[in-house]
Amino acid sequence: MSAREILVAGGGIGGLAAALALARKGRRVRVLEKAPEFGEIGYGIQMGPNVARMLERLGVLKALEPASVFPEALIFADALTDEELTRISLGKAFLARYGYRYFVIHRRDLHGGLLEACRQRPEIALSPSHGLQSFREEKGAVLVTCENGAEVEGEALVGAEGLRSPTRQAIVGDGAPRMAGHYVYRGVVPDEEIAERSRAHTMTIWGGPDLHLVQYRLRGGTVMNNVATIASRRFRSGAPEAGAPDELEEIFAQTHPRVRGSLRYVSRERNWVLHDRDPVTNWTAGRVTLLGDAAHPTLQYLAQGAQMAIEDAVVLAEKVAAAGGDYPCAFLAYQRERMNRTARVVLSSRFFGEWFHVDGGARELRNELARGRDADNPWEADWLYRGIQPDGRL
Ligand SMILES: Cc1cc2nc3c(=O)[nH]c(=O)nc-3n(C[C@H](O)[C@H](O)[C@H](O)COP(=O)(O)OP(=O)(O)OC[C@H]3O[C@@H](n4cnc5c(N)ncnc54)[C@H](O)[C@@H]3O)c2cc1C
Repeated sequence: MSAREILVAGGGIGGLAAALALARKGRRVRVLEKAPEFGEIGYGIQMGPNVARMLERLGVLKALEPASVFPEALIFADALTDEELTRISLGKAFLARYGYRYFVIHRRDLHGGLLEACRQRPEIALSPSHGLQSFREEKGAVLVTCENGAEVEGEALVGAEGLRSPTRQAIVGDGAPRMAGHYVYRGVVPDEEIAERSRAHTMTIWGGPDLHLVQYRLRGGTVMNNVATIASRRFRSGAPEAGAPDELEEIFAQTHPRVRGSLRYVSRERNWVLHDRDPVTNWTAGRVTLLGDAAHPTLQYLAQGAQMAIEDAVVLAEKVAAAGGDYPCAFLAYQRERMNRTARVVLSSRFFGEWFHVDGGARELRNELARGRDADNPWEADWLYRGIQPDGRL
């Protein structure tokens, strides 16, 4: 075991996965988290077979199973008509193809599972209320100055502070993330409050002009996760109140009654403004690198942001183990392996965001192509769900 610690800034899903992966390779790790407590927001998250494989390698997949729901299919439907256009069956053929099941889970259960696994490892120290403010590299060490005034020394630093990572600003310096003009409203409601029972055991997405809706059950089917997104017309025209609750109602007004009726399941108290960044090639500098949303924030349309962060964690630890104490070399190898796969997720997510939200002739084309798909042959998803290839190829 190395004597000094690797510092991980940010104790979200990515940071904790990184701590766990590095600890499992015998490294000592300290997680510096800005918030006074380690935690996650109370909504659902989707996990494909690519990440299930990674979670197994981190030794947490089994422990997450009781809290997971395994949908029967991923369905795409037209939001104006409620017509089911296509489905990816998640049964035997899917399992045989990818080796792992697709599951959905409450974020707190996923984050909590990773946190528990971290707590059980003597190599990992967790430091809440230690937001990274700045860092400098000095004589084979990285010195982090925290917002609370503490100075922490490590042999390397992994910036996993999410979308507005200060470590990214120091390394990449690309300023504010790109606003997509998309706004998300969410809600988790008890299953008995859900009027419509069909497709109860699926993850269904309805796509419509400038909108989409996602629904799936969580926690043994006892609650349903609802995500309603709009591509704000006000944002595009520069009008005020972009993405406000009345615009949500306005854009959903033309949808099928089932779809617009589902707006009663999302809270108006808060919305999420979606951002991403253009892929970059320089997220590593010496003994410092980035991971997860800090490195390659993506829109939600492939449901892969957290999954990429977990894949990052596993690859990072592999490269650190392979390079011994040579962090600059390990981090460059890690970045090289992750760069194109994560860039593909970022750019494909933008494409799917457009594709879900089209109208007119584009909607006709989308629907016809979707209807023609084979349910047991996941559409364009092989590169994603097969996961990391042993040689890092896409
Ligand atoms: C609507 C929506 C739906 C989504 N659905 C999915 C999905 O189904 N599947 C999926 O895989 N992904 C999904 N994502 C993406 C996913 O939520 C993110 O990609 C993921 O949470 C990124 O994890 P992270 O650990 O990199 O960053 P974060 O989750 O942002 O965690 C960063 C952590 O760093 C801390 N922090 C911040 N600043 C500092 C600092 N200065 N010093 C120290 N700590 C700091 C924060 O408090 C936080 O704990 C979705 C995103 C959205 C918006």
